Amino acid sequence: MSHGRARHALHRQGNAGHRLVPVPALTHHRIKEPHMLRREFVKYLTAGAAGQFILPVSGASAATPLNVVVIGGGMAGATAAKYLRVWARKLALDALVSVTIIDKSDQYVSNIMSNMVLTGEKTIANLTYTYASLKTKYGINFIKATVSSVDTANGWVYGKLNNTGSDILLNATPFNRLILATGISFDPSTFTLNVPSTVYANPWEAIPHAWQAGTQTTLLRNQLVNMTAGNHVAVTIPVSPYRCPPGPYERACVLADWLRVKKPGSKIYLIDPGQTADGRPPVEPNNFGYAFANIHKNLVYVQNARLTAVTGSLAGTTKFKTLSLVPNSATPLNTVNALASPTAVKVEVANVIPKMQAADLTRSVLGPAGLDADGRWAVVDERSYKSLVPKVYVIGDSIKSANQPKAGHIGNQQAKVCADAILRELSNVALYDAPVTNSACFTPVTTNLNSQYGAMASWLTATFRYGVDPTDNVSRMLRVSTNIESPGRPSKDNFSSMGKWFTSLMQDVYS
Ligand SMILES: Cc1cc2nc3c(=O)[nH]c(=O)nc-3n(C[C@H](O)[C@H](O)[C@H](O)COP(=O)(O)OP(=O)(O)OC[C@H]3O[C@@H](n4cnc5c(N)ncnc54)[C@H](O)[C@@H]3O)c2cc1C
Repeated sequence: MSHGRARHALHRQGNAGHRLVPVPALTHHRIKEPHMLRREFVKYLTAGAAGQFILPVSGASAATPLNVVVIGGGMAGATAAKYLRVWARKLALDALVSVTIIDKSDQYVSNIMSNMVLTGEKTIANLTYTYASLKTKYGINFIKATVSSVDTANGWVYGKLNNTGSDILLNATPFNRLILATGISFDPSTFTLNVPSTVYANPWEAIPHAWQAGTQTTLLRNQLVNMTAGNHVAVTIPVSPYRCPPGPYERACVLADWLRVKKPGSKIYLIDPGQTADGRPPVEPNNFGYAFANIHKNLVYVQNARLTAVTGSLAGTTKFKTLSLVPNSATPLNTVNALASPTAVKVEVANVIPKMQAADLTRSVLGPAGLDADGRWAVVDERSYKSLVPKVYVIGDSIKSANQPKAGHIGNQQAKVCADAILRELSNVALYDAPVTNSACFTPVTTNLNSQYGAMASWLTATFRYGVDPTDNVSRMLRVSTNIESPGRPSKDNFSSMGKWFTSLMQDVYS
């Protein structure tokens, strides 16, 4: 795909009756802040120069300094920290804006592209980023610690420095803004895990999710490499909402390709609780539907299937896992692949991706009053990402959003909207009330091992804008366009664009 084609597709969509908004750069070029924001921002700077909005430098000392603590230096948190400092400098407010990232790790491993670690095309080292540029280029402070609790009223953060010892106070100066960008945690309570200690000392090692890249990815990769050819693999998809909607389908595709070459005779089962009328995947039905039907003959796609139990067993030295499945809905929507009665699948490698929720820290800091009715996701104002707890903002995968997906690209954009909102507040400038965000996901569909096709990819994009939802009169981020998937078939051209998009995105976050 070329950048021009993506824009063209969106513009056509706009002309077809949707409101046309400028589309932020997707590929090839450096990712930029959403266009509407950028335009507003320029207006903001110009007005500031005229002394109308932003603080004149001479008056800056009269303003309250901002002490922002960002917990979580992943895709969303690192972007927010960077753009707070970048834009504060542009506004000549940098002396007033101090930003500290606190993260468990001083290295971030990207989830994006981590399916290619499973197939050996990338390594964890290829996907590892540090905070060095954020510290040296933008003057951001970094503390390596696992945060355990936050006193939001007084601005104190407590946790284990370098992840060891007892909890201590981590910040020397109290924060007056806190950004929680801690991603997701897992809720495995929807199935039972019965794995004897003779099979795995730690039963969770029987079912690596590999949905937070790093040690989990390596664990799953090793299980795949060591499995016996002819035995099978299963990937189970969680109920929505979950991080990266196309991710499990992408994983099934690249693993099917890898298995075909490396483990002849092995099949991969993709277990989906969702279902569609025609049996094609609910996400990117054209691209994945084509790949499932025409390329990956060793991929068995099962819809309407809910995992209820995983049972481990040994046969010689081989560790098997039996996945018990029941129909998710009593009414199967198709006769192609929707499960109609309980069944079981026995595999050697079980990649169980559990149900998700906002990370534990975010849920405990916000408390039930700051979460949605299920107590899972953070309730925020999508114009600023302000939570219901004073001084606390939440961005990235932890938030409840009716329309925006949980993805790194959009987390990067939410972070910029949040940084802009915080700086406006500092400068007594009204909140911008119609921010635009854009989501883009490139998905590898075949690997370099594929002798017929080579490495191919597809993509999915959507644009969102804040406004009143006519269905219930509530304001939120609305889809400006429906999801748009790459036209035609997965292609080598898309695969090459994917590399450029990924490099641009990660540079925008960490460089
Ligand atoms: C296989 C896969 C493929 C994907 N592909 C794409 C893609 O193509 N495009 C796309 O846009 N997205 C993709 N995603 C999704 C994307 O990776 C996530 O949506 C994104 O990382 C979310 O960003 P975040 O900042 O909310 O969370 P994260 O990036 O997970 O960052 C959270 C950070 O918080 C830290 N943290 C958590 N709790 C604490 C604590 N108590 N104390 C200190 N630190 C803490 C963690 O260490 C981590 O660094 C993919 C995901 C997967 C799993």
